[in-house]
Amino acid sequence: MNQTNPVKRIALFGSTGSIGTQALEVIGAHPDKFSVEVLTCGGNDELLIEQALKFNPNIVVVGEEQKYTRVKEALASTDVKVFCGEKALEDVAGMDCYDLMLAAIVGYAGLKPTLRAIKSGKAIALANKETLVVAGDIIMQTAVENRVPVIPVDSEHSAIFQCLVGEMRNPIDKVILTASGGPFLGRKPNYLVNVKREHALQHPNWTMGAKISIDSATLMNKGLEMIEARWLFNLAPHQIEVLVHPQSIIHSMVQFQDGSIKAQMGLPDMKLPIQYALAFPKRVPNDYPRCEFKKIKNLTFEEPDLRTFRNLALAMEALEKGGNLACVMNAANEIAVYAFLRNRIGFLDMTDVIEKTMQKVNFIEKPTLEEYFESDGEARNYAADIIKL
Ligand code: NAD
Ligand code: MG
Repeated sequence: MNQTNPVKRIALFGSTGSIGTQALEVIGAHPDKFSVEVLTCGGNDELLIEQALKFNPNIVVVGEEQKYTRVKEALASTDVKVFCGEKALEDVAGMDCYDLMLAAIVGYAGLKPTLRAIKSGKAIALANKETLVVAGDIIMQTAVENRVPVIPVDSEHSAIFQCLVGEMRNPIDKVILTASGGPFLGRKPNYLVNVKREHALQHPNWTMGAKISIDSATLMNKGLEMIEARWLFNLAPHQIEVLVHPQSIIHSMVQFQDGSIKAQMGLPDMKLPIQYALAFPKRVPNDYPRCEFKKIKNLTFEEPDLRTFRNLALAMEALEKGGNLACVMNAANEIAVYAFLRNRIGFLDMTDVIEKTMQKVNFIEKPTLEEYFESDGEARNYAADIIKL
């Protein structure tokens, strides 16, 4: 290890997912810059074992407790420590053996380990947007109190973050979050009513985990991202706009008070924002394909269709009203997406479940962390009841 450029010790929470596996590609390409200290998964024990044998971390955690014995036996000849269960995920997040957590668990399950890491003073590279949607005020306040940097991995937020480097004293007029529009861009409800899971999972520009793929098809993903931007960059709701840009070359933009706009661009490849977040404040070389503008015929833009993609309108309402509404919406969305992925409800039913749950659960203007947890639980139960899960 060299003192001026120490190796960053990474804890990869959600290592078996789409972000997790791409992060391991980035880390594997730069062994002089990063080491893998912690790997965690929910239930994909097979891939976790394979990753542990390749990267030789200090610790692995498998979320599903019944998978523990299998992982422990497979790693018996190594000195990798094996833990299991929800509590272990949190406990390991609080350990001293790493410098930066890549928070790449999907959904609400990522919140508690991320919060524990922040409280333990660890830098956070944040992919898990749901953490900020559920309790963004408390998460960011805790990060400030612990002097912890929260560096976005989500491509839009990475773009905004990159546009803001060197602009610390310059107030933002607004941010423009770009959206690809997903696989159903231009479609109307009479088409969407019949779409099936396989169809909705086919994203035109990005290959991602199942939950975020469905969120992209409904545009809920962009709604979650508006709320994520609100907390990451301390913006008022009216400062956050969404613009459909089907080519996904401009990853997002910032307009400053003089009307000048900065955009960050590149090919749609999550390895870029992952690498940026891991290596920040440095940029490190790589051999990924480059964006060649002469080969791009058009960069086009249009307004999102809020009447068809009502999830985005619901998220805008949650952003505007604040309190526990985004937490409630997120919980209902997780249940609705779960049910859609199992063919239990139709594509448009997801919106009805979310809307009804948002109307039902009591509004709390300034929730405590405990109240966020309770709102999440209440919303999940209510949404599951509607679907009869
Ligand atoms: P994924 O489903 O591919 O992977 C999720 C990971 O979390 C897996 O390792 C899984 O084992 C683990 N996990 C799931 N449930 C768990 C639980 N209950 N306890 C512990 N671990 C659990 O998801 P993904 O596409 O990699 O997305 C991860 C996060 O990053 C999401 O919040 C998503 O919104 C965000 N994100 C993803 C992309 C992308 O391109 N995939 C882009 C931007 C943001
Ligand atoms: Mg995104």
